[in-house]
Amino acid sequence: MGGDLGAAPGGRARYQVTTPDLRRHLADLIKTEHPFVYCWSCLAAKLRIEEPKLRDTAQMLVVGQRQDFVLARRECACGASDQLLVYTKAGA
Ligand SMILES: [Zn+2]
Repeated sequence: MGGDLGAAPGGRARYQVTTPDLRRHLADLIKTEHPFVYCWSCLAAKLRIEEPKLRDTAQMLVVGQRQDFVLARRECACGASDQLLVYTKAGA
């Protein structure tokens, strides 16, 4: 019993492909395009990455910089509507 510090229950650890670089890239893009919001497939196309990877990265942004980024229901210019990554100006 016990002594199992290394193992995270629930199997939430996936392959680690979300590099800090990619996170920064995504953050910059979202800030630059603000107040326009892109859906996941448009963002994935812009960044040339796969959508699951994009969502993972977005999740890390929301968790790590929750004062800057939130997930909110928005509509993309392409017409897709979903919970999307939205930039919220700090203090606004
Ligand atoms: Zn779109």
